[in-house]
Amino acid sequence: MKRILLCLCLFLAVLPGARAQKLVEGATSDIPAQGSYTPSFKVDRAKKKPLNIILMIGDGTGLAQICAGYYANNGELTLTNLHTMGLVSTSSADSYTTDSAASGTAYACGQKVNNWTVGIDTEGKPIANLPELLAPAGIVSGIVTTDDLDGATPASFFAHQPNRGKGAEIWAEVAGSPLLFFGAGCREAFGNQAPETQAAIREKFLVTDNLADPALADAARIGYLPPHSEVQSLKHGRGDFLPATTTYAIDFLMRHRTSRRKGFFLMVEGARIDKSCHANEFEPAVKEMLDFDKAIEAAIRFAEKDGNTLVLITADHETGGLTLGSDGDPSKGSITGRFVSGWHTPIPVPIYAYGPHSQDFTGIQGNDEVSRKIRRLLLGK
Ligand SMILES: [Zn+2]
Repeated sequence: MKRILLCLCLFLAVLPGARAQKLVEGATSDIPAQGSYTPSFKVDRAKKKPLNIILMIGDGTGLAQICAGYYANNGELTLTNLHTMGLVSTSSADSYTTDSAASGTAYACGQKVNNWTVGIDTEGKPIANLPELLAPAGIVSGIVTTDDLDGATPASFFAHQPNRGKGAEIWAEVAGSPLLFFGAGCREAFGNQAPETQAAIREKFLVTDNLADPALADAARIGYLPPHSEVQSLKHGRGDFLPATTTYAIDFLMRHRTSRRKGFFLMVEGARIDKSCHANEFEPAVKEMLDFDKAIEAAIRFAEKDGNTLVLITADHETGGLTLGSDGDPSKGSITGRFVSGWHTPIPVPIYAYGPHSQDFTGIQGNDEVSRKIRRLLLGK
């Protein structure tokens, strides 16, 4: 009997759930304040339909990650300056704790699907994503991410695969996508693809590792794949890739609209908040959050000037079960965080909205519903 009890105890000790109870602490120090931007709100909640929609996904970004950035930045973020917000439930078709593939697909395709699957329904059939649905109506699309292009979130906006790990197959779908712009990792990953995949992508896109390349002036479609060093984590030296590429993508898509009455759809992902939270690295997660806020500022500044753009900022799920401690000193940019998990959590995530019809995103909604609202606003159906 004693041996059975001992075995049971050992078994419970190695259960994932038991491991998830460990508490990992972290603190920030000397994070330079970056300020924030507050728009005028003149176009916020306007009743006219937006022509353009920018969907910004902070991977793994729950309320604690946002608050961590807010407190570390002297109590301000462009994100938290916004007035309109709601909540998004993120569960997938087969689990109440989603992964990025299922949640990315829900945002891209408007359907709940199984974890690990990209752009296919629970029967295994491909489902059309927003760029594919919008292109026939003359609405152009782009994606920007700090992840590799075949990461689960960006892949959801162009690929259809039963397993998010099928990188070669996901890359092979890029050329068939109607995307006009992608900015993602990375030059090296592209170089590792099959020659026919590289050739097919080069046939459709002007592939570059440098946005200052003069040849881009005449490009109809751009595939921006910078060196890995420029899209890796901030703690490993990434610069301003995310805000700078967001600004570039907005300008490029505006210049390549099919008419003045047809707009664009852009998905921007801050991918490395999630990766820092998986590693239970608090300060790197806060810095990634602040970098994501710079990209948010770029989008909000454009929306303010343009007047016909709706910006949505949300997450695919929370990562790490993060909470903040009461023992920090936000006046010094010093705050403490505690993780209880190395995986995602099923807690709903916030969605912030700015621009015409931002009011459509208040209340509680599914991630699939957010996609269907975007579709209705841009296509009227
Ligand atoms: Zn994750």
